[in-house]
Amino acid sequence: MPDNRIKCKVEECVYNSQGLCQADSIEVMSSGESMRVGTTDGTRCSTFRYNNLT
Ligand code: SF4
Repeated sequence: MPDNRIKCKVEECVYNSQGLCQADSIEVMSSGESMRVGTTDGTRCSTFRYNNLT
């Protein structure tokens, strides 16, 4: 992300640096079985990669 517009609180992700996503791009998927998502709880970042150094 050139201008760090994506704020993220997932500190366990390798792309997270001080609350900003450093990935070139991200993909967000629905997290449940339902075809309709009604709240933020129904979404998830599929670009997440666990940082085992945290
Ligand atoms: S890849 Fe997803 S989970 Fe990881 S820092 Fe970026 S937005 Fe957050």
